[in-house]
Parts: sequence; structure tokens; C-alpha cells
Amino acid sequence: VLYLLKILDMEISENIPTKTSALPLMEAFYTIQGEGAWQGHAAYFIRLAGCDVGCVWCDVKESWDAKAHPVVSVEAIVQEARQYPCKIAVITGGEPLMYDLTYLTEELKRAGFRTHIETSGVYPLTGQWDWVCFSPKKFKKPHESIYFKADELKAIVYNPSDFSFAESFINSMKKNCKLLLQPEWSRQDKMMPLIVEYVKANPQWQVSLQTHKYMNIP
Ligand code: SF4
Repeated sequence: VLYLLKILDMEISENIPTKTSALPLMEAFYTIQGEGAWQGHAAYFIRLAGCDVGCVWCDVKESWDAKAHPVVSVEAIVQEARQYPCKIAVITGGEPLMYDLTYLTEELKRAGFRTHIETSGVYPLTGQWDWVCFSPKKFKKPHESIYFKADELKAIVYNPSDFSFAESFINSMKKNCKLLLQPEWSRQDKMMPLIVEYVKANPQWQVSLQTHKYMNIP
């Protein structure tokens, strides 16, 4: 029994902590939200490390390995955020819902922030959110509980088949959910004309662009 307990203890201590008091942080920065419904607003981004979704075109692959990034206390994360004049905090990743975000969002709200999340939805939603951006990926099935909680469905278009993937969600979303089609950056030239025609034919959708990349900001 003692041997078994020792093995268990080793496995637990080797895991990245999932408790809410400290989270693996890849980076945090003050910028302009470049995408989606809040495009153009100043926002403080908190990028948590760790992702097991495996999108082939991911542009933040360095976020995947949570162990490569420091574990930072929620208090320190929020204290840093408070230095800036904006009151929108965007939690992104990686896949931020790998962790229980209840405490982080509580502390951000206590500091007066609106809380926004960008997630692939593959884990259940934790935390208190003012805005949920659900960006499903073909590489891992989303958790259905996110569908009714999403304020924004942001579908990335890398291939023409991504239009039907995006459509497969819309009947499950809440009524006023914004429906956005965004070209994957490296395929923008090829996909943009298709998106324009698609939105003209299906006006329930809107175009979303990664405008921060045009602005040359993170
Ligand atoms: Fe990258 Fe996001 Fe896909 Fe994870 S979910 S692999 S961070 S694009």
C-alpha cells in the first residue's frame, strides 16, 4: 500500500497543477482585440499554456506544452492586469478550459474587469463570463455544454469543407449568438473570396478578420 501511495503521489506532483490558485501562463499583454465581436477594443490578454487539441495550422504551438511555462498565482496575474486602463480581460491559450477558471474570473471581476474567453470548447466551461467566444476545431470534438453558453461562434476557414463544419453547430447555439467566419491567416488569400460569397449568400454569418495582424500588434 505504501508503495502504491508513493507512485500516486509522484504522478500527482508531476502533473501541471489544475487548482485555481495558480495557472501556467505563457504570456500576458495589453493590446487591441483584433478578432470577433469585440474587434477594435483595448483588452488585456492572458494566454494560459497547455493545449491538447492539435490544430495543424495552430499559430501558437509554443503554448501546447504547459510545462514549458511558469505557473503564476492568480493574484499575480490579476495584479499585473490592473496596471492598465482597460477593463476587458481576455483569457485565451492554448486551451484555457483545461483548468478550472472559477477563481481567476472571480478575482478579475473583483478588480472590475469584464471577463472574456476564447475556447475550442473541448472541456466544460468553468468561471463567470461576460463573453464566451467558442471556436470549434475539427481536431477534437467540443463539449456540448458550451453550445448554449457561447455568445459568439467563430469558425476558422482553412478548407472549403469548413463551411459545412461551421454550419453543423448553428442549430445548437443560443438565438442571439453571433456567427463569424474567419479565414485562417496563412490561407487568407485563397479562402477570403469564398467567405465573401458565402456570407453574401448566407447573411446570418459575418466575416471576422485577424485585424491585429494588419495592425502589426500581438
Ligand atoms: Fe492552437 Fe487553439 Fe488549436 Fe490549441 S485550440 S491547437 S491553441 S489553435
